[in-house]
Amino acid sequence: EITKAVLARIKAVDNQVQAFVTVTEEEALQLSAELDGKDLSGKLAGIPYALKDIFCTRGIRTTCSSRMLENFVPAYDCTVVRKLSAEQAVLVGKLNMDEFAMGSSTEQSAFFATRNPWNRECVPGGSSGGSAAAVAADEVPFALGTDTGGSIRQPAAYCGVVGFKPTYGRVSRWGVISYASSLDQVGTLTKDVRDGALIMNIIAGRDSLDSTSVDLPVPDYTEFLDKDIQGMRIAYPRELLQSGIDENIERAVKNALLKFEEMGASVEEVSLPHCEYALPTYYLVATAEASANLARFDGVRYGLRQAEAENVIDMFSKSRAIGFGAEVKRRIMLGTYALSSGYYDAYYLKALKARRLIADDFARVFADYDLIVTPTTPTTAFKLGEQVDDPLTLLMNDVLTVPVNMAGLPAISIPCGHHEGLPIGMQLIAKAFSEGTLFRAAHAFE
Ligand code: GLN
Repeated sequence: EITKAVLARIKAVDNQVQAFVTVTEEEALQLSAELDGKDLSGKLAGIPYALKDIFCTRGIRTTCSSRMLENFVPAYDCTVVRKLSAEQAVLVGKLNMDEFAMGSSTEQSAFFATRNPWNRECVPGGSSGGSAAAVAADEVPFALGTDTGGSIRQPAAYCGVVGFKPTYGRVSRWGVISYASSLDQVGTLTKDVRDGALIMNIIAGRDSLDSTSVDLPVPDYTEFLDKDIQGMRIAYPRELLQSGIDENIERAVKNALLKFEEMGASVEEVSLPHCEYALPTYYLVATAEASANLARFDGVRYGLRQAEAENVIDMFSKSRAIGFGAEVKRRIMLGTYALSSGYYDAYYLKALKARRLIADDFARVFADYDLIVTPTTPTTAFKLGEQVDDPLTLLMNDVLTVPVNMAGLPAISIPCGHHEGLPIGMQLIAKAFSEGTLFRAAHAFE
């Protein structure tokens, strides 16, 4: 019944929201029929969900919203999907995104743009825009996304849902198509904080198939939910409130800080002096890694092949010319340039040094504080088409989320108000592997 209701809801609203690239109706109905009458001991028995189309799913097309992978059907499930299946969750479909997770509006999808359910003239954010929109429009109770520079938190903020990005290494990335491997992390988009904690209980943990996943025990995150925040030490970084934040957003976050104080937390201003270098640093590190990761799409092993070619090199370049969109090509070129021998020291190596300074800024603050609070984004959702030809303005959406990925920290975006009918998101950041602190504070605020 739940699966049928969710599929009916998708049918009723998705032609307006356009969150889904693929609806796996047949598979979902079959699985839920099989579950009926079975031992339903799974923690998510019969609960429908959907995935950003970057997670490999056995027998189900996985496109990364790219022409390159338009007809790619993986032969295996990624680790997080295996874990959800083991708890009897029911996958109902794959969600739209910016191609290869490069973008902040879901307009870079090779297929179509997803709409913001609050105002369909506006973008849902990105790159996990389909995931945020599907949860906001009540098409699914939860979705998974990935976050390399903000791709869970920024769309969560734009769509008024909860977006959770765990510590780098907390969740296995095995079977998730890579964008920038030292930054990518899997996380959740949910209606509330409790659901995020429940899903994290299932997907977190060491995976021998992903050597960057960390071997630390996974606590029961729901145990943090009902603890109060008496005595919690909260910092808010001065610089991040000066970087062109819309005054309505600043007001909403300041009100939220007052509420934290009323609940017994202390709030103090701090400095993260190197965060101003986070965006340029990110766009060197992320594109460098992307240029290496995307080299595998050559028309031989995966995806699209342009067979009408004179020789194999011509086949590589024609396949890539047709298969990749403009933004992906731009980033491959930038990353290749940054890694090339004459420029490596000036760009890539320098970016790595700046990244260390950014991480050290956070470490310094976290020696004295439990939590850092910022807005998630400088503005609310913008209009479709408004920034599509302006990659530099588009990058500014990520100015508050990117530093967190550079330092590998966990963070959550939760709704903290509205302006002109559009949601405002607040970001909470904690020490590495202190996910519980985030759930505790976010739930207290909710
Ligand atoms: N918007 C950022 C980018 O375009 C972040 C994307 C992400 O987190 N995947 O790279």
